[in-house]
Amino acid sequence: MVKMIMDWIEELERAGVSPLRDEPLSKHTSFKIGGPADAYVTAKTREQAAAALRVARAAKIPVFFLGWGSNLLVRDGGVRGLVLALGGELEKIEFPGPDLVRAGAAARVPQLVVSCAEKGLSGLEPIVGVPGCVGGALVMNAGTRDGEIGPFVEEVETLDSEGNAAVVPRGRLAFGYRCSNLGNSLVLSALLRLKRGVKADIMAVVARQQQKRLQTQPIHTFNVGSTFKNPPGLFAAQMIEQLGLKGRALGGARISPMHANFIENFAGAKASDVLALVDLISERVLAASGVKLELEMRVVGE
Ligand SMILES: Cc1cc2nc3c(=O)[nH]c(=O)nc-3n(C[C@H](O)[C@H](O)[C@H](O)COP(=O)(O)OP(=O)(O)OC[C@H]3O[C@@H](n4cnc5c(N)ncnc54)[C@H](O)[C@@H]3O)c2cc1C
Repeated sequence: MVKMIMDWIEELERAGVSPLRDEPLSKHTSFKIGGPADAYVTAKTREQAAAALRVARAAKIPVFFLGWGSNLLVRDGGVRGLVLALGGELEKIEFPGPDLVRAGAAARVPQLVVSCAEKGLSGLEPIVGVPGCVGGALVMNAGTRDGEIGPFVEEVETLDSEGNAAVVPRGRLAFGYRCSNLGNSLVLSALLRLKRGVKADIMAVVARQQQKRLQTQPIHTFNVGSTFKNPPGLFAAQMIEQLGLKGRALGGARISPMHANFIENFAGAKASDVLALVDLISERVLAASGVKLELEMRVVGE
């Protein structure tokens, strides 16, 4: 097994993509939790991404696409196979038309929103506080009660598991509540059509959104945002708070004293601590209200 891993890691090196071996994923998630990846690659060009995918395909190695890791709980045993992240030219944000922006999948969402605001382009203000990358935001259809990214997407550039490029037009994209039909292929970039507006007004909305978040969310702690989706017509945070669970800790993880739908890694938590809290919340909410909460954060690894 070890020899096999060495073989395909050497293949990655020959393909020029500099893999890191046994890279702790706790370094790459906002929870600061997660065991190692067998191999971790940051592709800085489209060619490097395609080369990594081809090597993985030929060696029959599973590939996990990683953005900013801000919606992920990686289990303590880590991720087998290749974890593929993006950087370099895929961080670019360009403005190809008066109401158009093209963002690389590795561009950070807050930077995208502020760059658009500075150009007088409106629409993305509600997601200025979403800390992830554009790729992750598209896959998750990142949003708030005030709006989501999905409606602004004109097309998405992808690579399939064999490294073949494609452009998925708006008509073939589907976005739902914190989900989309993207994610099976690697997202490289997206073209978004926004609304023209007055820069000062857009900047004021951005500032208000940031202020609101500071007051209501524990953004300076290690977490992944909302743990659970809101059930139809209900608020997960309210349901958890009503059960008196705010501040409840298991191991190094606790339900945020500030926002009951956030779990914080406050003292070297393991993924197993977070999962134990998830079970506790799910069981208590089900018993109290008959509602089965659905996870918003994604759990990966072994
Ligand atoms: C403090 C805080 C506040 C948050 N607030 C919000 C909020 O208001 N609204 C909201 O929607 N979310 C929120 N989140 C959650 C999170 O930021 C979003 O889900 C974000 O869009 C995830 O992006 P990411 O780059 O971190 O993706 P990751 O967490 O790395 O990955 C998420 C999923 O996307 C896939 N993926 C990532 N990049 C690619 C790619 N290039 N190609 C294909 N698949 C890819 C991954 O495989 C994974 O399945 C918050 C998180 C935190 C920590």
